[in-house]
Amino acid sequence: MEKVKELEELQDLQLDFWRQPGVPEIPIDVRVPFPSLQAVKVFLEYNNIRYSILIHDLQTLVDEEQTEMIRQRSTPKSLEAFNYATYHTLNEIYHFMDLLVTENPNLVSKIQIGNSYEDRPLYVLKFSTGGTNRPAIWIDTGIHSREWITQASGVRFAKKIIDSYGTDPSLTSILDNMDIFLEIVTNPDGFAYTHTSNRMWRKTRSIKAGSLCVGVDPNRNWDAGFGGAGSSSNPCSETYRGPYAHSESEVKAIVDFVKTHGNIKAFISIHSYSQLLLYPYGYTRTPAADHQELDEIAEAAVAALSSLYGTSYRYGSIITTIYQASGGTVDWTYNQGIKYSFTFELRDSGHYGFLLPAKQIIPTADETWLALMTIMEYTKDHPY
Ligand SMILES: [Zn+2]
Repeated sequence: MEKVKELEELQDLQLDFWRQPGVPEIPIDVRVPFPSLQAVKVFLEYNNIRYSILIHDLQTLVDEEQTEMIRQRSTPKSLEAFNYATYHTLNEIYHFMDLLVTENPNLVSKIQIGNSYEDRPLYVLKFSTGGTNRPAIWIDTGIHSREWITQASGVRFAKKIIDSYGTDPSLTSILDNMDIFLEIVTNPDGFAYTHTSNRMWRKTRSIKAGSLCVGVDPNRNWDAGFGGAGSSSNPCSETYRGPYAHSESEVKAIVDFVKTHGNIKAFISIHSYSQLLLYPYGYTRTPAADHQELDEIAEAAVAALSSLYGTSYRYGSIITTIYQASGGTVDWTYNQGIKYSFTFELRDSGHYGFLLPAKQIIPTADETWLALMTIMEYTKDHPY
């Protein structure tokens, strides 16, 4: 593990760590550019580090994904005609949101909580059956732009909410008592960039004076242990924390929203990949005050998820289950008093990584939905 950290520091190699070094149970995944291949092999062999090659030629997978997207592309005139089994561009997802609102005006509205660095609107779907400032559940997907399975799942969750209200007693009861906020494209600049320029883009697209490197890791930018271990001060790093907490407008918009709303009871931030359900903390080894309760909820949520297709998930606190990470989203929300703060890492466990085939979108979203329902139902039944 320590040796691999050395490798991470060799910036000339341009390595992209898909999974950072952390607990021994989880392998480290790294994308190696072709010119660095020999150097990395020599390093690993010299240090007796076992490795295997998961994806021989990433570009082939990227090309296949692109071809499939173009083949499936359409501009549906109704929600019913929308294709949930393919990946979509930013504009296609915006179109989806508009269809959703147009067809279900009494159940869902679209609000704008701010603008991205490149001035794109930050849209959040609000599912509500009335009341004023009801207790609420927040769900976000896509804060790391290359984690395409998450935005695709977010689209599917929106449809699930609409379809379940009035048919599924549990979701109906949740929406009769609480509001649900869903931000599908939480990092729109990064997401647009994954479609136009670099499929592997993770960070925001903000420009820093004095550096040629672009972007901040929006999951290291929150004011919770900001600047600590498990985040980088180097603007060229994939885990660059930014110049100060909440420097990124995509993060600040959520911070302001959460504070202004003041009645959010569950906050669920969705990432990929690794098949994990995590709760605070990431920046400190001190267990969260509600550790026991969060662990029990996670256990139940993971059991519900696995019941559909047998997908296996691990769960626990961030620092004990993967690695130390400072400035993370749910550590901040938890410290704000949102007790039910969780992060998912969706499929897979490292075979396709960020390039999960589109035929896994619906199964992934549907199994995750069962875990979300467990958390939402628990939140409704345990007011605080
Ligand atoms: Zn992520």
